[in-house]
Amino acid sequence: MAEQKILKLGNPNLRKEALEYPPDWIGSDSFEKLLLDMRETLRASGGIGLAAPQINILYRVVVIDIVNPNTRYGTIELSPFEVYINPKIYILEKETEGFWEGCLSVPGMMGYVERPKKIRIDYLNRKGEPKSKVAQGFLSTVFQHEFDHLDGILYVDRISDPKLFSFEDEYKEFHV
Ligand code: ZN
Repeated sequence: MAEQKILKLGNPNLRKEALEYPPDWIGSDSFEKLLLDMRETLRASGGIGLAAPQINILYRVVVIDIVNPNTRYGTIELSPFEVYINPKIYILEKETEGFWEGCLSVPGMMGYVERPKKIRIDYLNRKGEPKSKVAQGFLSTVFQHEFDHLDGILYVDRISDPKLFSFEDEYKEFHV
């Protein structure tokens, strides 16, 4: 297990559609290695979510790990380490809510993005069991941001007002 290099904005692999993760690979040695690499990379970076394509593995796997409620996004709901394989999103409330987002692939920057406020996600967990979860508020944004990576979409594509794109320091100085 090892911390992996995170691809940055401009790398074409961040813009590719990731493949479905074959369910019969779940539990294999390469699967467990992928999870360890993703967990280690996420923890080392201090982020809250990581999609496999960000470490150049073009499969539909995301990890989210919110164990400390105090983040650069303010105080947020906890969501301890969990793996989301082949996730699908269903919008439960079309009404949108906006948050400032950052991304490990776009270091040092923040941008304001509006997304549907309430969603349901269906996915396979790390044991390959089908699961479903409803999310709203900031957590809904976290899932949508991470799952967008699986379709080659970055949050910068979704910033509706270019004036609300900022370096992190200027965000803290002028936008909080
Ligand atoms: Zn991201």
